Formats: sequence, C-alpha cells, structure tokens
Amino acid sequence: GTKNFSKNQQLNGRIAKNDNKAESFTRRQRILQQRKSLPIAEVEKQLIEEVRKNDMLILVGETGSGKTTQLPQFLFNGGYCRDGKTIGITQPRRVAAVTVAKRVAEECGVELGQKVGYSIRFEDVTSSSTRIKYMTDGLLLREALLDPLLSKYSVIVVDEAHERTVHTDVLLGLLKNVQKVRSQTTSQHANLEKMKVNHGTSMKKENDAQNLSFFKSYQGAKLPPLKLIIMSASLDAKGFSEYFGGARAVHIQGRPYPVDILYTHHAEPDYLDATLITIFQIHSEEDPGVILVFLTGQEEIESVERLIRDRVQQLPEDTQKLLTCPIFSSLPSEQQMHVFRPAPSGFRKVILATNIAETSVTIPGIKYVIDTGFVKARSYNPLTGIESLIVIPTSKSQALQRSGRAGREGPGKCFRLYPESEFSKLKDSTVPEIKRCNLSSVILQLKALGVDDIIGFDFMEKPSRMAIVKSLEQLFLLGALTDDYKLSNPIGHQMARLPLDPIYSRALILASDFNCLEEMLMTVAMLSVESIFYAPRDKLEEARAAWKNFSSLEGDHLTLVNVYRASTESLGKTKVANNRNKATGKGLRKWCQENFINYRSVLHALDIHSQIRGHVEQMSLRIASCGDDMLQFRRCLAASFFLNAALKQPDGSYRALASGQMVQIHPSSMLFRMKPEDCGSNFDSPVHYHFLLAEEPTTLAVQSCQSFQFLKGEDTEKELKI
Ligand code: ADP
Ligand code: MG
Repeated sequence: GTKNFSKNQQLNGRIAKNDNKAESFTRRQRILQQRKSLPIAEVEKQLIEEVRKNDMLILVGETGSGKTTQLPQFLFNGGYCRDGKTIGITQPRRVAAVTVAKRVAEECGVELGQKVGYSIRFEDVTSSSTRIKYMTDGLLLREALLDPLLSKYSVIVVDEAHERTVHTDVLLGLLKNVQKVRSQTTSQHANLEKMKVNHGTSMKKENDAQNLSFFKSYQGAKLPPLKLIIMSASLDAKGFSEYFGGARAVHIQGRPYPVDILYTHHAEPDYLDATLITIFQIHSEEDPGVILVFLTGQEEIESVERLIRDRVQQLPEDTQKLLTCPIFSSLPSEQQMHVFRPAPSGFRKVILATNIAETSVTIPGIKYVIDTGFVKARSYNPLTGIESLIVIPTSKSQALQRSGRAGREGPGKCFRLYPESEFSKLKDSTVPEIKRCNLSSVILQLKALGVDDIIGFDFMEKPSRMAIVKSLEQLFLLGALTDDYKLSNPIGHQMARLPLDPIYSRALILASDFNCLEEMLMTVAMLSVESIFYAPRDKLEEARAAWKNFSSLEGDHLTLVNVYRASTESLGKTKVANNRNKATGKGLRKWCQENFINYRSVLHALDIHSQIRGHVEQMSLRIASCGDDMLQFRRCLAASFFLNAALKQPDGSYRALASGQMVQIHPSSMLFRMKPEDCGSNFDSPVHYHFLLAEEPTTLAVQSCQSFQFLKGEDTEKELKI
C-alpha cells in the first residue's frame, strides 16, 4: 500500500547555490574544497581570536557546519599544541569519536593514531604524537582519575553538549573546577605552593574536599590555563553560559535549505510497517537521494534491514536497488564507516540509524528523512532502584534536529510517521540524562576523584536527592562504600577502576573468590551487548530449536555462557584475541547463521571480553574457570546480583525483594516458556530468581540456588531500610 502525507512546508532558511564542480577533483582536493565550503571555514580567524581572549567559550552552530571536524584543526594551526600539549574533544557517543577521528585524520593526510587519534572505552588508538584526540566524555572522566588536572591538555572541547548525557554533565562540573585550579597555578604559583603545603590545616571545610584532591596531585609544575570550549547544535547556549558565569557564546550561521515536513493523516499502529511502506514509496516516487530513517535501536534496525532486503527482491529487474546501511552505537567500528561511503551506481542508500544521526554524525547526501517519532532513552525509578531503557516519543527539538538532516546540501523532505496534531503535544526538549539514570557509577567515579560531597557537587542540573541517596545505598550494599560513605579499600577502589556498571564490577571481583572469573567475564561481556539471539519472523520455530542447544534450565546467564563458549569453539584453535582476523570471522559468521545468533553482537562481545580481561589482569584478580561446576558460578551470581532479586510467589508470579514490586519474566528470556513445574523440581521451593534488567525490554532472569550470599544481601537491604 501507500501512505498519504499532508504537507506543511517549513522554510529553514535561505537557499544557497549548489556547487558541484568538485566532482572532477581528486579525493584529497575534493576534501579540501569541502572543508573550505563549510560555514565554519569563513570564521576561522575570528574563532581563534575568541579562544585567545576567552578561557571559556560556547560555540553554537547547525549540525554539519563543521564544528567537530574543523575547530580542532583550527586550534592546532593556532598553536595550541606547542610544548607537546594535546587538544581533547569529547563526544557523548563512541561512534562519533571513532568516525570523526577517522575523517579528521584523512583530512590532515595522516595515519589514524598519529597526530589525530581517538580513545574510547575498550579501544585506544592514540600515541605519544597524538595532538588532536577525540574521545568519549566518559573516557575523559576516567583520565581525570589518573591526572586530576588533565595536565596534558591545552584545550578541551566538550562536543554535543546539548545531548546532556550524564557524563557530559559531570564532566562540566569537573572541568569548571580544573580550570579554576589551573588558572591559579599560573597566576598564583607561589601562593599555591604555600596552600599545597598547608592544605591539611587550612582547608578543612567539607566542600573543599574536591579541590584538595587536585592540590594533592599538583606537582608544582607550571601548567598553562585550560581553555574550555562547549559546543552545541541546539540553541540552549543561555543555560551553559549561565552555568559558566556568563561565558561568551558564539554562533555560527548555517546555510540550511528548505525542508518539506510531511505528516501522516492518522496515528500509525505499527510504525515499523509504516517505515517500510514509506521507504519504498520514496524510492519509487521521489528523486534520487539518500534516505535517513530514525529508529530506536539495534534490534529494530536489523529487523527493518531484513524486511527491506526481502522486499527488494520483489522489485522489477531494471529498477534502482536499495542499499541499507545501519548505524547504531554498538556497531563494530569497521562497519560504522560504511554509512559515509557513496552507494555504488544503480543503488539508493537507505541509512537506518538511532538518534546517533540526529547530531553526532553528519552523513553526506541525505535528502529524505523518515522520523518514526520515537527514541530509546534511559529511565530510572529511584523507588525500585531499577534503571531501564524505554521507548518514548521524541521531544520537539529532537524532531527538528531530525528533519534538519534532510536540508544540508539541498532542499529535502521529512516524513514524520505521526499526525501533525501529535507534534504540538511533544515536550519542548529532552530531560537531561542525569535526572533519569542510576547514579551509582558516576558517584563511584566522583568519590574516586576525591569528591565526597555528592549532594553539594556543582551540577548544572542537580539530580534528585532521592536518586543520589538510593545510589549511595546501592554502592554501600555492593561493598564499595564504608559506613561513612567513603570509598572502601580495596573493593571500592578496585570497582572504580573498572569501566563497568558497579554491579558488574562487583561480580567480577567476587568471581575471582568463587573461582569462576572466566565465566563471569563471559557473562559480563554478553550482558554488555544488545540482542544476542535473533529470529526472522518466518523461522521462529527453527531458531528456537537451534537455541535449545544452549539454553539452560538454570537461566539466562548460564545460557549466555553456553553461547559464548560455543561461539569461541567455532573459532577453532585460533585465539579469541584474533577475532578480527577475516578467516576466523568467516567460521564464526557461519556458525552464527546456523544457530540464529547475532554475529555483530557476538563479535562485539568477544571484543569487550578481551578488553575487560585486560583490566582484571592488570588488577591481578585471579582468573580461573569453574569448568563444569556451574553451582559455583551460580553462587557467585547470587552474591553479585542480589540487588535485583525476586522471589517466586505461591501463585507463580514474582516479587522483587528490594522494592516489593511484582515482576515478570520477559518473553525474551529462555525461562519464559517454561512451566513452573519444569523449573521447580530440582530445587526446594520457593525458587529464587535473579532479575537483571540489562537492556530493556530484555529482562534477563537467572534461576538461582538458595545461597547464603543471597540471603545476606537481602538482610543487609532490610537493615538499611530500618
Ligand atoms: P558539525 O560538528 O558542525 O555538525 P562536522 O564537523 O561533523 O559538523 O561535519 C562537517 C562536514 O564534514 C559534514 O557536513 C560532512 O559533509 C563532512 N563529514 C564529516 N564526517 C565525515 C565523514 N566521516 N565522511 C565524509 N564526510 C564527512
Ligand atoms: Mg558535530
């Protein structure tokens, strides 16, 4: 069928001339030309002058104006890397850090990892000669643990600040402090020496605790003041400016083309179906041009990818074909780059993206945008202490960003898969993540940085007191904090070193005592990726039969261990560390296909596994395998995941122990189809279950034995409540 859209023309700005001469140039010349034509190129000199005059600057500009790729190069040319200093640019998303670094290395004509590099969790592509370093905001926070004054950086650019990820917000607070201390190190060098010596006596106030840690590490070296640049696509410069004491904001004028906004006449009961129809409608009725589709996550993207592939086969022989390119955050980095390649002739490119493509990555050639109107977001309930990912409607500003993607290089069209009346009901902007996530991991890091007074920390927007208290409580129960909420030794310090959810960190540390660290490493790696299992709609039964080989009556975590073990066996004798090796990849790919396992996800899990393994090796945790003694492993699971434990009720339902909430096994769980008699027979009743809300809507359940650790966890929780 076809969809009818009503039209509402929206002019985004004046129309500029299109310049297509570049086509005959060589690649490098073309890139140079492209760079020169970016709006930011016209203001290079003014920008460098603004940075010279202001230690703190806010830079606002339309997506695609050249902020992320060009500004660091301007700064480099402007002399900010003299004396071996580095320019650091933070991104909320890994994909952006990787793809942008690759692009900038190419623009500079250098090998990635030399002058231009990137560093993200589990992947460091930098060297001692790196001067322009892209990284995730979370990674810079980790660097601050080792180098509290961020002494190797002359400039730090916080990019995509409008995204307001929890790491960005924490980073802003921290950078404000670092900048203050570093400007003191230059202007009051002598004074500071004195303060440093006296800090034990003259700075007793609680609130100075965070400064104290900076002073402690202050080596007396003369550091240049830290330049800070906050970059943002949307127009909320005012909020940032106020937070930074009236900092100067500079706007880059964009050159957007008009974008026709089209709405559906009625609400769409199935937006995936509507997406598919719209893609093919554009393909058959509209001019050539890339289609960008906004979906909510990997699973959705992959299912639309398959549906398109099926439907393409039905197109007549002589019509233009469709080439699908997925982009989402956990996509392996080699595959992320596919979206930037032009489609071969005879193909129209369809990019299937999450909200990553709203602002983080700028893909050339987009003429059509399909906006489902939804986004996956973190959501936290401080009452239950449970965080989940839920699909919610976008905000107005997100919808505008999305439609704007169609008007970068020429007039475009945006198809919103909801009625126009719905648009006015959307929230103006997205709630900052810090107000809707579990804060345990961030608090752990702040504590490790010497910030003890979390409630008094200078957040741009304070999280609720209740969320802070709940997270402190969780950290205490996990053993990371002492009775007086200080970082415990050694557990708290060890946990802070691992770049993982504190529950996972705790599980790994415990697993070394339970002699099952090998198995826990597999589990944590598998829990860190989305959708391990996949089943095409028409092959569901076949898939289920294949999964039976792995599924464990004892629950999903053991099932995941089985899948992991089997997948590495398919790699043969080749070492897992070589999983990028093409020949190895082939065997694994085939195995995955035969077993209805998501190849991309398994590759990602293998990668994460080897990275975390590196971390625990460094921490000298004892890595042993429990072999077939899975009871040992299950004891360890119970001891680690007790925060999310649920108890089976006489009527077969489950009740979460900590909150008393009723919970339910998610259909994606291997335990879902089981009848109660099947799982209860081997155990004394009542049967204990562990629920791990890993990736909503995937609720993973572990059937666990009744172990004393489990009960102890429960008792502690009760004690604390009283
Ligand atoms: P901003 O940060 O202002 O949104 P960017 O610096 O990310 O803008 O992008 C500027 C331009 O560079 C884009 O419009 C796009 O044409 C080009 N570009 C960026 N990354 C790539 C890439 N990986 N491949 C090809 N072109 C790219
Ligand atoms: Mg950018």
